[in-house]
Amino acid sequence: MTIATTYQRAFNSKRVDPYPVEVLKRVDRPTTGIQDNEVRRVDERESGFMRCRRGDFGAHFKKEVDRFIQKFPLGGALSWMSGNLKDMVEGIASEHKAPLPDDPEVLARHIKQTAYFLRTDLVGICELPRYAVYSNTFPNGEEVHLTHKYAIAIIIDQDWRTAEAAVGNDWISGPMSFLSYSTSGFIACILAEYIRRLGYPARAHHARNYQVVVPPILLWAGLGEMCRVGDIVLNPFLGTRFKAAVVTTDMPLAIDKPIDFGLQDFCAKCEKCAKCCPSGSIPFGADAKEMHNGYEKWANNVETCTKQRVGNKTGSSCGVCINVCPWNKPYTPFHRFVEWTMRNVPIARRFAVWGDDIMGYGEPKLENKWWFDLEDVNGDGVLSVPVHSGSRGNYKPQE
Ligand code: SF4
Repeated sequence: MTIATTYQRAFNSKRVDPYPVEVLKRVDRPTTGIQDNEVRRVDERESGFMRCRRGDFGAHFKKEVDRFIQKFPLGGALSWMSGNLKDMVEGIASEHKAPLPDDPEVLARHIKQTAYFLRTDLVGICELPRYAVYSNTFPNGEEVHLTHKYAIAIIIDQDWRTAEAAVGNDWISGPMSFLSYSTSGFIACILAEYIRRLGYPARAHHARNYQVVVPPILLWAGLGEMCRVGDIVLNPFLGTRFKAAVVTTDMPLAIDKPIDFGLQDFCAKCEKCAKCCPSGSIPFGADAKEMHNGYEKWANNVETCTKQRVGNKTGSSCGVCINVCPWNKPYTPFHRFVEWTMRNVPIARRFAVWGDDIMGYGEPKLENKWWFDLEDVNGDGVLSVPVHSGSRGNYKPQE
């Protein structure tokens, strides 16, 4: 096939993305402030889970952090798979560049099509901000020297039907996270290897081996806005019900722009995650945003949030804030209409939580639960039925 034919085919096929990302309002900068010159690169050893591993949150949590996913067998299986991907992130690029068009638009479209072929749920591309590269990695503090120009962000849905049936801090929460971590990591490793075989350097970054901080990449790649839950990015089609991996590369790619779907106003009015959080880690208040290392955000309490996930006695990890969020919905015509309204009619946002509860989304559909609650209490492979399973604390759906 000639280059001209490849070019033509790349542009003649139908829409690339499975969700209508073309209807989203594009803006020049993320909707929450980032003071580019003031953001310093962060050390991976300072993240909540790494501090927990180091013992900053006490001996109990230092011990629990190694078992809080593995104690539920499905979480253990998914975590095992993502662990196997740890050393599959790098390789040497082919010396022979593939005979591809050198148009960044065509290449970006092809990379997105490849990511969707590999079963990504959404993908976006941005230039890699220098401040999104870790300064040092966990555990040895090795300095990171990553100079790639572009970042391809891959996001994977944690599964709506499971989220609908789950409380959020029960036994399936850890597997929901690690389904997305292991799948996005698997896809990122393949995509990076493919790009290297085309003759461009590339590196995968996933939950077991990041050299980059993911949230700013998601913002710049147009995959969401910063929400009330601290460093979490919320996507208009998936809510916060996803995890992400990244491929960095020097392949010349056209970039996406950040999006604005009214989330700052929505989160200011909503607060449902703050009301439901079992550990009270999410701040209340429309104007409770703060500046942290050059980022404007609602600052959650990293220590209590990490302790809740690691030390949860009623399940494996915790994702109550994900499950209760009004943006956590299936992709049906009705919910597309509601989502359009939330994006475009600011006054309707005031009624969103009320409407969400009226529709029955304040409570999980326990009748749809498909998994068995099991716990490996002593780490010896003996499984027992746990006495407790999670609950949503004091939250009462509005009437
Ligand atoms: Fe924002 Fe409400 Fe979702 Fe929390 S639950 S992240 S406040 S939309």
